[in-house]
Amino acid sequence: MAIREDVLVVGGGIAGVTAALAAAESGAQVRLLSHKKSTLRQASGLIDVLGAIGGVAPIADPFAAVDDLPDGHPYRVVGADAIRDGLDLFDGAVGDAYAGAHTDRNALVLTHGGTIKPTARYPKSVAPGLASVEKRTLLVGFAGLTDFDAPTAAAHLGAAGVPFDIDGATVPFPVEFRDDALTTRFAKALDGDESNARTRLVEAVAEELDGHERVGFPAMLGDQNESTVRAELEDRLGAAVFEIPTGPPSLLGLRLEDLLYDALDEAGVRISSGNPAVSYEASDRRIDAVLVDQRGREVPYGAEEFVLATGGLVGKGIDSDRESVTEPIFGCHIPHPADRYEWSEREAFGAHAFARFGVVPDGDLRPVDESGGNEFENLRAAGGVLGGADTAREKSAAGVSLATGAYAGRRAGEEATQ
Ligand SMILES: Cc1cc2nc3c(=O)[nH]c(=O)nc-3n(C[C@H](O)[C@H](O)[C@H](O)COP(=O)(O)OP(=O)(O)OC[C@H]3O[C@@H](n4cnc5c(N)ncnc54)[C@H](O)[C@@H]3O)c2cc1C
Repeated sequence: MAIREDVLVVGGGIAGVTAALAAAESGAQVRLLSHKKSTLRQASGLIDVLGAIGGVAPIADPFAAVDDLPDGHPYRVVGADAIRDGLDLFDGAVGDAYAGAHTDRNALVLTHGGTIKPTARYPKSVAPGLASVEKRTLLVGFAGLTDFDAPTAAAHLGAAGVPFDIDGATVPFPVEFRDDALTTRFAKALDGDESNARTRLVEAVAEELDGHERVGFPAMLGDQNESTVRAELEDRLGAAVFEIPTGPPSLLGLRLEDLLYDALDEAGVRISSGNPAVSYEASDRRIDAVLVDQRGREVPYGAEEFVLATGGLVGKGIDSDRESVTEPIFGCHIPHPADRYEWSEREAFGAHAFARFGVVPDGDLRPVDESGGNEFENLRAAGGVLGGADTAREKSAAGVSLATGAYAGRRAGEEATQ
């Protein structure tokens, strides 16, 4: 029997999940189709809405700054209400695992690189470490874990002028692993208290504590039992304990992925993952089906409305070669300078044109072609596949995905069920 839904969302990252949840709320039957489960496992687990404009940071209140963004920015297309809608959907999906919903203002989170990041939502385990909390702070890293050098991170934060004393120490991890062991292995050892890992960790850290009122560890304090591990460490050290977001593979990203996919299950969204969408069938500017490559066979997934949420250059929603930049499934128009030398700046952290490449939406998030007409009547785009935002520089990636995912999903759901 042919697969047919009210709404088909293509992409399993934050934008796709949010679009699917929003569409399901309108009563539509929704399927989320994703090649790789998601890129969340590489991400920090923080939800940045807007941290900087034009390289100037930090932005205190992202909502107050939306009008300062350039025309064509996705936030200018969907408006501040959609940002709130996306955050509400997120808060509903993650429940009390995240903090930050009490205010519109950014929180300032310590990063593993020794910088401070303005962010809108952060895991509960990160909350005791906010830079706005003035407590003598000890950062603790583990010997052999090259991703986080606690003394260097503490020195950077001290030099940046955080309003509290901050020091760093490196201790051996209580269980020995191979040099290339992943953070998940460390987390599981603490989860299961392997070889008395928690007691031995407390003993090692207690030697360095010296009156510090809170202790920050790289985010690996357990996989399934993080809150139990953290509570035990707090109790036995007599200090607040917090996690610092790490690079990939990111425990905070993995935990977020679990929470969001649980929410999809609860909302009744059907999930198909493991195979890429490669093409489509359409008539009269309406898409009938997306074609999915299942071991060389193109299988149609039909729907009334479609949401494209395949991410940017990292998620593979946008492809580029030496000549051109393309959107590989529907062939949506992506404006870019013909001269490749204009795609990037000389400075590594400059305002690169390529960072803004993506599909151009109309006011209803429907991609437009070169002449400004809709590519298709029933296709909307959300998240990193949209152009017009330099989300890495602005620190707005997850926020843009939430806001546009919420908008595109709701509109698709409304259209499909009316
Ligand atoms: C290392 C890293 C760190 C990050 N840190 C932060 C951070 O600190 N704060 C923050 O706010 N954001 C951060 N982000 C960004 C954030 O996690 C999202 O990547 C971003 O919001 C874009 O989300 P998205 O859903 O549009 O796309 P993606 O997350 O890129 O997801 C795209 C999805 O589409 C699927 N897909 C792609 N092509 C196809 C196809 N042909 N067929 C089917 N499925 C397809 C992919 O498999 C994937 O599931 C980080 C991202 C990364 C990679």
